[in-house]
Amino acid sequence: MIFDDYARFQMDLRTTFRTKLLLLTIVPLAVAQVVTLFVVMQTVKQDVEAKGHETLEIGTTVINEFLAARTDQLRTSVSVLAADYGFKEAVATGDAATIRSVLENHGARVRADIAALVDLDGVLIASTLDTSVRSRVDVIQLIADASQRNVESTALVGDSAYHLFAVPLRAPVTIGYVVLGFSIDQALADRVAGLTGLDVSIIHSSDGFNTVIATQSGNPEGIDLSRGHDIVYHALGAEDDLLTIQTPFIRGDSAVAIVLQQSMREAMRPYVEQGRALLAFGLVLLIFVALAGGGFSTTIERPVHALGQAARRMISGDYNRCVLVKSDDEFGELASSFNAMQTAIAEREQRISHNALHDPLTDLPNRSKVLKELTRLIEEARTSGDEIAILSMRIARMSEISSTLGHNAADDLISTTARQLQANLGDIEILGHTGTNEFVFVLPGLDVDGALAYVDRVASLLGAGVTLGRINIILQAEIGVACFPRHGASANDLLRFASIACTEAEASKERTRIYQQGREDEFLRRLRTVNDLPSALRRGDVETWFQPKVSLPDAEVCGAEALVRWRHRELGFLNPDDFIPAAEQSGMIVELTRHVIGDAVRRCREWQDAGYALNVSVNLSARDLLDEYLPYHVMQMLKDAGIPAERLTLEVTESSIMEDLKRSIALLELLRDIGVAISMDDFGTGHSSLSQLRNIPLHELKIDKSFISTICSDEHNDTIVRTTIELAHGMALDVVAEGVEDEATLRHIAGYGCQQAQGYFLSKPLPPQEFLDWLANYEPRPVSDRRGKQRAFAS
Ligand code: C2E
Ligand code: CA
Ligand code: CA
Repeated sequence: MIFDDYARFQMDLRTTFRTKLLLLTIVPLAVAQVVTLFVVMQTVKQDVEAKGHETLEIGTTVINEFLAARTDQLRTSVSVLAADYGFKEAVATGDAATIRSVLENHGARVRADIAALVDLDGVLIASTLDTSVRSRVDVIQLIADASQRNVESTALVGDSAYHLFAVPLRAPVTIGYVVLGFSIDQALADRVAGLTGLDVSIIHSSDGFNTVIATQSGNPEGIDLSRGHDIVYHALGAEDDLLTIQTPFIRGDSAVAIVLQQSMREAMRPYVEQGRALLAFGLVLLIFVALAGGGFSTTIERPVHALGQAARRMISGDYNRCVLVKSDDEFGELASSFNAMQTAIAEREQRISHNALHDPLTDLPNRSKVLKELTRLIEEARTSGDEIAILSMRIARMSEISSTLGHNAADDLISTTARQLQANLGDIEILGHTGTNEFVFVLPGLDVDGALAYVDRVASLLGAGVTLGRINIILQAEIGVACFPRHGASANDLLRFASIACTEAEASKERTRIYQQGREDEFLRRLRTVNDLPSALRRGDVETWFQPKVSLPDAEVCGAEALVRWRHRELGFLNPDDFIPAAEQSGMIVELTRHVIGDAVRRCREWQDAGYALNVSVNLSARDLLDEYLPYHVMQMLKDAGIPAERLTLEVTESSIMEDLKRSIALLELLRDIGVAISMDDFGTGHSSLSQLRNIPLHELKIDKSFISTICSDEHNDTIVRTTIELAHGMALDVVAEGVEDEATLRHIAGYGCQQAQGYFLSKPLPPQEFLDWLANYEPRPVSDRRGKQRAFAS
């Protein structure tokens, strides 16, 4: 879709660009040429016209001079004849033959076409005219008219025109008139034309009707001779324009006129040819510009096209090919900038996709990347039949480390560890960082046994320690194992199963757990139960049981530990291990703890009322140590139950304190200030030494049951317990032994000076009523120490 649009856009761009370029170059050029040509031709035309006018004027002058000279000459001829003595005599004698011969001779000599003698009444006496013509009335009339009109006139006889001169014949009185006539004909016209170099026509006009007497190529039709000496345009449609001037043959007589004409077409011809040449040149120029423009636009288009293609390649994610524009101009510069941009974008995209698939702290593949890779490996394994082991690993005591060293150091630790693990990674093995403290190994070709061997290698690597600044931190890890195809077929499931196995390893404090089919259900079930906890608390399904504690060596009951139990409506009886971890994870533990403390102090009050002044101990979780309202609630509950604070002991573990050492200590100090006693539970399982506990406001140390239960069989544990008790006393702490399952153990610890004991040997945890019964039936049997100071259980 984007492609289509882009291609269309490019096409548009190309066509519009080329069109625009051509329009921009050709149109102005063409307009300029046309305008120039038009203006030039117009100017030329005006010029030619003006020249034409001038030529015609000059022609007119020439003609007029010519006609005047001719008239003078002819008039002189007529005068000479009229003055001829012989002629006068002949006329006087009336000798017709002599008159006729004189007329013929003289007429021939002056080249007259007509020579005639007319009497005073206008009657023709003699003439050189043919008998045929002589009889014609019009001719006779004409000659008579001429004689009457004195000197000079023109006349039309048939198709011929004549220039007539009449002179009176005096002897000495006028006895008649001599008339000479000269033909106005083509020859005259040709002569005049020869003088002026113009088209000449001679026209006779009578009653608005023109007769052409003689003409060259001119077009004298329709000329209005009444206009006299004038220049007029004689339009002849599209063909030609004629400049026309006329001059009367005889001044003051408009009957016959000479018309001079100049063809504008003829006059313009050389210019028109030049104009055509100019036009042809303009056309060639236009074609050249169009071709050059086309060529230029192609030289622009080619790099633009190359850039466009490169952009399209980039859109489709191909950053490998560079734009090839080999020129030093702006396009070359653009292309190299484009290539630089492409490289930058490619790098950035690579970085972004790398970041999207890698954890920023360790730069290891993140969960999505591991999933992707595992999915691919599973596909391969399906065809090859290979197995794949997936390890989910969490570094133990990470929260402790982070609160001791600070978060930055913890981050450093994680990234250093990641580097060390990666350095030991095989080619096809993958290490991912999928959570703050969660690593995943994907090990193609390994089955469960192979995975366990691998776990050993990882454990020894971590056990060698990771160097952080100047300290070497020895690490332990809990690792969950899941295998393809044994435990699951999808990458997602396998990662989850490995993680569940890891959680179980953590919960059981083992190094490795192999995922067991069905554990997932249990895991989910546990999670689900936590959701039921609030309503279970309200409905009283959650009970507090009590396990007695006795003081040593007198074996008197001194207190009890409150241990929670849940009678789940669907799942049945649940031990704390079934729901405490989930309650801790969900935060529900805070409410549960308050509930148990409330229960415990109320029971404590009950026992007091029944005559037993006992202490009561309640377990706290790490999350409780962040509950800043806890001291307030504790105070309230003690007050409500009417029990002094000293009767209440709160048990905490090292690991829960270490999650946030500062805040935990602050909270414990508040509790201590209220008067509540603090006990260090499960002592010995953590990693702190006694001296490290100095800052914690403690009253009591509870040695973990794992040491106590084996004290008689394991000499090492025995030593630990003995020295621990001694050191604790040195720090003024009471020591409680938990997990006392037999009499020998009880004696043993009593011999070491341990002040209190708790365990199945005395009683299992009991529901409140049973606990009261147990109290009623209990008979203390004091324990004598090893050295025989006391007699134990004397029957
Ligand atoms: P814990 O605080 O170490 O509690 C002692 C556990 O040891 C109890 O298990 C108890 O039944 C068991 N025990 C007592 N005497 C002996 C003995 O002689 N031999 C052996 N093998 N075991 C003995 P329980 O009740 O299942 O509690 C397990 C853990 O659950 C407790 O360990 C404690 O950490 C946690 N827990 C129990 N109730 C609560 C509670 O109300 N709040 C919190 N936060 N944790 C609780
Ligand atoms: Ca406890
Ligand atoms: Ca314990």
